[in-house]
Amino acid sequence: MSDSTPAPDALAPRRDFIRELVADDVATGRFGRAPATRFPPEPNGFLHMGHAKSICLNFGIAREFGGTCNLRFDDTNPFTEDVKYVEAIKRDVQWLGFQWDNEFYASDYFEKLYEIAELLVTKGKAYVDDQSEDDIRTNRGTVTSAGTPSPWRNRSVDENLDLLRRMKAGEFADGTRVLRAKIDMAHPNMIMRDPLLLRIRRGAHHYRRGTEWNIFPLYDFAHGLSDAVEGITRSLCTLEFKDNRDIYDWLVAEAGFTNPPTQIEFARLELDYTVLSKRKLLRLVNEGHVSGWDDPRMPTIAGLRRRGVRPEAIRTFAETIGVARKDARVEISIFEHAVRNDLNMEVPRVLAVLKPLKVVLTNYPDGQVEMLEAQDYPHDVPKTGTRQVPFSRELFIDADDFMENPPKKFFRLSPGNEVRLRFGYIIKCEDVVKDAAGNITELRCTYDPETKSGGANSDRKVKGTIQWVSAAQALTCEVRLYDRLFSAPNPDDVPEGQDFISTLNPESLVVIPNAKVEPSVAAHPVGSRFQFERVGYFYAEPEDSRPGRLVFNRIVGLRDSWAKEIKKG
Ligand code: ATP
Ligand code: MG
Repeated sequence: MSDSTPAPDALAPRRDFIRELVADDVATGRFGRAPATRFPPEPNGFLHMGHAKSICLNFGIAREFGGTCNLRFDDTNPFTEDVKYVEAIKRDVQWLGFQWDNEFYASDYFEKLYEIAELLVTKGKAYVDDQSEDDIRTNRGTVTSAGTPSPWRNRSVDENLDLLRRMKAGEFADGTRVLRAKIDMAHPNMIMRDPLLLRIRRGAHHYRRGTEWNIFPLYDFAHGLSDAVEGITRSLCTLEFKDNRDIYDWLVAEAGFTNPPTQIEFARLELDYTVLSKRKLLRLVNEGHVSGWDDPRMPTIAGLRRRGVRPEAIRTFAETIGVARKDARVEISIFEHAVRNDLNMEVPRVLAVLKPLKVVLTNYPDGQVEMLEAQDYPHDVPKTGTRQVPFSRELFIDADDFMENPPKKFFRLSPGNEVRLRFGYIIKCEDVVKDAAGNITELRCTYDPETKSGGANSDRKVKGTIQWVSAAQALTCEVRLYDRLFSAPNPDDVPEGQDFISTLNPESLVVIPNAKVEPSVAAHPVGSRFQFERVGYFYAEPEDSRPGRLVFNRIVGLRDSWAKEIKKG
């Protein structure tokens, strides 16, 4: 699979503040081991472009510095996780071009975490609190005032150990007790005010551990210690975890890890016209706004793959945006640009007509079919190739390339005017045929036999060149025009009482049931990508295409049509 080898530029060492730190780790031997990173998704949804950024960063650093990167499922919540998400995540990471050194599961560390819980209790660094989680939250105080210590804060080690063991054994109901770290109820960092470590979920069914466990670790308790168990050096996470760094450091130190990993935060990816949150994406799926996690409009890796985007484009995009210390929204046009650039260099051009309008060449011999030579790539692309395209008396052109009463600078076809057919001849519109309702049904044109492309007399120039297909030989196909899923740059920026759902773009999918494409595409396997000249980049959808009935997804247009919209006002 050639997709799995990143382009050389994706391997070139880039310098950002994280890579500077890692380079420094290597130079100073700070951790006494090779750089070790991990990508730690929770298997509660499909991966999205934000995860892709994190994947490129974690796996990229391991690769560049000769280190390792683990795939670790952060699966500590029995209510939301599922093996179907584990499978999807593995497939998506590999499709992006990365292979993990180890596949780990935080749920495999439950025993180890429990051992550490007992150790903390024994050291007087953790206690069982009988307050409800609500009361604990209330008693935590505010940024300006200290919290109120729990009445259970000074339980003896023996009592705490006994209660912890009974929590584990399933003696207590959910919500009746929690294990908390004993740190400082007046700590300036609120997270350090005796954070929760374990909570009761008696008899809960975990997708890997079954009903074996009655207590489950909270994120802070599981995350850093999982990193430490795996010998991670730098634990990369997004900025909203900045305040969690203190508890991370406290826990790995109290648990006795020497040379423990340290956390570095970077900016979350936020993309215009998109939401990047599994919770919100799950809503789109559950409420039926999209056909599933892999709907081609979804910003998920599975959706992008199904749309026809290549992994190279996603990696290039991740590289382009880099990593920063401050959150900032990224313009979707930067992503679309990466997709377009990638396809421009890779995919053959073909002729296709999305809105077929019949053209009859009245002076072309009836029944004659002539094969025209067509270039697969423009001259500024390193790839080359030619194919034969049938030409005959009856053609289709795109209805948008004809205007009965054109404005001044309309260089396509109009009554009495000429246009060049790509790889073919110059034609002239002589007559417009309409039905009783006044709709144009056919154009009667003449062609100039002296003007064959590449022929001796081909130097006669006209201003416009348009695509076309021969009516008898063209393949009829379904074309799915995908567009941005949201029509607002920031879908979350809505008036009170509304949410991101209200900014869905009603035209994010337009299906054209009877588009026409030149017959040469049949020689390519489904899953191939093309540029439809003058239209955009398209993907022969492997799941829904049938022999004789291809389905094409629009991956991206040839230019940013939204930029034009904005200029038009
Ligand atoms: P979501 O809010 O979509 O559920 P998450 O952070 O809860 O995202 P996880 O599965 O916990 O999802 O994330 C796995 C890794 O991916 C984490 O290290 C997280 O920081 C990173 N990640 C998630 N979303 C983004 C994003 N938008 N930009 C960069 N990294 C992200
Ligand atoms: Mg999460």
